[in-house]
Amino acid sequence: MPADIYARYLRLKGKDVLFVCGSDEHGVAISMRARKEGKTPQQIIDHYHGLIKTSFEDFGISFDYYGRTSDSVHHQTASDFFKKLHQQGDFVEQTTDQLYDEEAQQFLADRFVVGTCPKCGHTEAYGDQCEACGSSLNATDLIDPKSTLSGSTPTLKATKHWFLPLERYQNFLEEWILKGHADDWKPNVYGQVKSWLDDGLKPRAVTRDLDWGIPVPVAGGENKVLYVWFDAPIGYISATKAWAKTNGKDWKPYWQDSDTELVHFIGKDNIVFHCIIFPAMLKAEGSYVLPENVPANEFLNLEGQKLSTSKNWAVWLHEYLQEFPGKQDVLRYALTANAPETKDNDFTWRDFQARNDSELVAIYGNFINRILVLTHKYYDGQVPTPNDLTQVDRETLEALRDLPDQVANSLDAYRFREASQTMMKIARLGNKYLADEEPWKKIKTDPERVQTIMHTALQVAAVLSLVSIPFLPHTAEKLRRLLGLPQQANWSELSQDEWLTPGSQLQTPELLFERIDDTAIEAQIEKLQNA
Ligand SMILES: [Zn+2]
Repeated sequence: MPADIYARYLRLKGKDVLFVCGSDEHGVAISMRARKEGKTPQQIIDHYHGLIKTSFEDFGISFDYYGRTSDSVHHQTASDFFKKLHQQGDFVEQTTDQLYDEEAQQFLADRFVVGTCPKCGHTEAYGDQCEACGSSLNATDLIDPKSTLSGSTPTLKATKHWFLPLERYQNFLEEWILKGHADDWKPNVYGQVKSWLDDGLKPRAVTRDLDWGIPVPVAGGENKVLYVWFDAPIGYISATKAWAKTNGKDWKPYWQDSDTELVHFIGKDNIVFHCIIFPAMLKAEGSYVLPENVPANEFLNLEGQKLSTSKNWAVWLHEYLQEFPGKQDVLRYALTANAPETKDNDFTWRDFQARNDSELVAIYGNFINRILVLTHKYYDGQVPTPNDLTQVDRETLEALRDLPDQVANSLDAYRFREASQTMMKIARLGNKYLADEEPWKKIKTDPERVQTIMHTALQVAAVLSLVSIPFLPHTAEKLRRLLGLPQQANWSELSQDEWLTPGSQLQTPELLFERIDDTAIEAQIEKLQNA
């Protein structure tokens, strides 16, 4: 959500923006699911990639390109990246003993081993983590390990792997982040990076023994693939190449020009990959820009509990879009107003309903509906000519200079919650102005004054329609159509003297938002409880 707001904002400012994302398709969970469902990994990823891509499109996430790591462009790009680092001597080779399933004739990736946790005694701990006590484990730590492939007891077998010696990048990362970004990276991100660096970085395997993934492209790499954490972030580069190919553009400036500002929008579980490991890889490779900022969010919980897709404690976007048709902007608004920017936060259906009913409907929607209806009633839908301005009018117009600047400052600092609340202040300003000035009372006694009131209120609506574009794109599009404003807009238009000129024709009023029934909210809560 923040990435989409940011991308739309930069486009409004006329910047050359490339907004990419993609499906990370080489995780072990995919192989496991395929096995469980009797399908191929390809069938699993095709299903989910299609679903996710469509859901994002329907929700209005304005990716320039949504790629996937099973794509041939990505396989080639990741493969070339590995080969370059290999040739440059950036890896170290190491032979270690790993658990091996003699029956399945396969090395066992972490999740393919279960056993007893050495820390708490839980008998169903996985090879990488015990879900009972939360300890992270090595598969060889498990007591009485069993292969989930065949149920047999695995043996230890020697296997060679390539490692990225992260300790070689310790000084570079300390200089670049701890010294260079102390002031402009978010404290939660900076703090986590500092704690990793304070612990001291260690070599990390970039390959593993699996049959699903990108084959290791050098001698000795048979039956091995690139570790998913190594190939996945390279997906950003691959997506850029794929986008360039589709659109007849050059991908290189976006990754190799020193003017390029690379920004990663992620959750806190991904900070180590985007702030330490991927930058170390980019530094080793040598020809790419480093991230300018990584404004990671904390976690968003759901109804007081941690989200879990496996336990179905989640709100699935494609289901939301079916159950709340046309309400993309309501969810966008609720998520942004409640974003876990500085600490974990909670999404609740009651809060979602309250954000809709008491903010979007009662303030934003009410204000717009009133001015559209009144303009039609008094002036056949034409913007009236103003007369002398009062102090209140001048202050209102003054706020229309100040509030958008505040929104821009918040967005520039990646404070999306604050920005969305300032956008809402513009609607509040308009709503209060109308309530205080009461044009519906003055129309009989002082029609000249009402012309000024309506002209001023319409200016508020026009500014709101532009500032809303990054946050509520569907609403902004409708509002600009109703106001007779062009869809193509530029943030610089906010410095104009007037946004709706006298005589401009407005369209027939339509409601922007509607109340959400208690029954719809109760149905969502019940659905979760039955999950
Ligand atoms: Zn445990």
